[in-house]
Amino acid sequence: MDIEAVSRRIETLADVAMIADGRRLPTESTFDVINPATEAVLVAAPNATRDQADAVMASAEAAYLSWKRDDDARRAAMRAAADLLLVHADDLGLLLTAEQGKPVRDSVAEVTTAVQWLRWYADLELDQPEIVEDSAVRRIAVYRRPLGPTVAITAWNFPIQMAVKKLAQALRPGNTVVVKPSPYTPLATLRMVEILQEVFPPGVVNAVSGGAELGSWLTEHPLTRKITFTGSTPVGKLVAAAAVPDLKRVTLELGGNDAAIVLDDADPATVAVGIFDRAFVNCGQTCAAIKRVYVPDSLYDDVVGALTSRAAAAVVGNGLEPDTDYGPLNNRAQLDIVAALVDDAVASGGRVTTGGPDDRSGFFYRPAIVADVKDEVRLVAEEQFGPALPVLSYSDLDDAVARANDSQYGLGGSVWTSDPDRGAQVAGELESGTVWVNTHATTLASQPFAGAKWSGIGVENGRWGMQQFTQLQAIHTAR
Ligand code: NAD
Repeated sequence: MDIEAVSRRIETLADVAMIADGRRLPTESTFDVINPATEAVLVAAPNATRDQADAVMASAEAAYLSWKRDDDARRAAMRAAADLLLVHADDLGLLLTAEQGKPVRDSVAEVTTAVQWLRWYADLELDQPEIVEDSAVRRIAVYRRPLGPTVAITAWNFPIQMAVKKLAQALRPGNTVVVKPSPYTPLATLRMVEILQEVFPPGVVNAVSGGAELGSWLTEHPLTRKITFTGSTPVGKLVAAAAVPDLKRVTLELGGNDAAIVLDDADPATVAVGIFDRAFVNCGQTCAAIKRVYVPDSLYDDVVGALTSRAAAAVVGNGLEPDTDYGPLNNRAQLDIVAALVDDAVASGGRVTTGGPDDRSGFFYRPAIVADVKDEVRLVAEEQFGPALPVLSYSDLDDAVARANDSQYGLGGSVWTSDPDRGAQVAGELESGTVWVNTHATTLASQPFAGAKWSGIGVENGRWGMQQFTQLQAIHTAR
């Protein structure tokens, strides 16, 4: 790859703008977007003013009345959007890597995964009216109606995938959307929304960029009828509180501290491959990555050894380099959190078998395996959201399950075993929205994804996810 030519291409692509009513909004104020692989400023991105927040909401409101009426048009536009994103997948992937850090092939895969969501929801039949009574006395039909202008707020780890998943589920039943990406990664989302103007009527899909203040303006806005939020648990609680005065509907996809439990029948070398891959996916910056592993005493050394070999062999570098397995962390704050949690674990007796700080410029941290840690250390008890995996031992399976469940989080969990039936049985004991057996963090458009406890409210994906963007309406006709 000719890095200079690629950098020039990225510079062109990074000329983004906020979009309302099908048009670019003028940039009146800016904030810097940093390339996490170099720490250089990529571009000064548009920072929405309060008037512009009002303008996007007004745009979504104005488009809603006609958008909600024509389902065939919605399906056609979503299919066209999927085709268009595929055409632009390489460019969007480059821009995403420049602002997020992940390897380009993962960025492009993020776009193609998003395309699958658009197609899946375009193909899904909407709920038909349910007739609960049709008698001589009355007829009662129950419908699902869209909610109206929807605010979609996303995190910086999978910006395109999150935005498109939310768009697909909101648009299909007839809502219009304002997308607000994270200020760490606004560029690919803004560019994508601009590209999508070719296939959606003006005002149906809008985008603004900015930080927490903009998030508050949108969640508190009187025109907002639905909020779909993906981010941290503390901010999710603020969003929930912002929704209360106006009783806005809200879906929250929040943090996780997913446990993986290895059963005593597992083959250490085999499970280490899957566990490593699913713990360090997106450099550990994945809501439902494996964030702690419980291993029986009898297998502990072998599993730690196999994880250590894989971590040591991982190629860490600029996501634009073709050999890179893992890019940098996305931002300095997250790098500092991961480093502090590992240091704290070591101070409490933990042992880093491989990985750790990386002294080149950029927010790099080599994948770290941390053995001999106790449940109480922060690296185990808190969400690290980065490339450091604590490995704990257990002697009694019930005790391991109880320790896995002893968390405010309940996003995902997994069981690793040579006996899938036994695995499914143990899976049922875990208090989380999804439990995988012999894999982890695999999501599909058809499969509900919901957080238990502090990991969220509501659900994404499948028919269940789309229903979150609708309101039941009963029409009762007296006879
Ligand atoms: P964050 O909560 O800091 O930010 C998320 C978004 O919220 C950003 O767009 C931010 O600008 C916006 N925001 C900040 N303050 C706001 C406010 N007061 N009102 C409205 N919006 C506001 O999260 P992050 O650091 O970007 O992402 C990492 C977190 O997201 C991790 O905890 C991770 O587990 C979680 N996450 C969850 C899922 C899931 O599906 N459950 C997926 C990805 C990430």
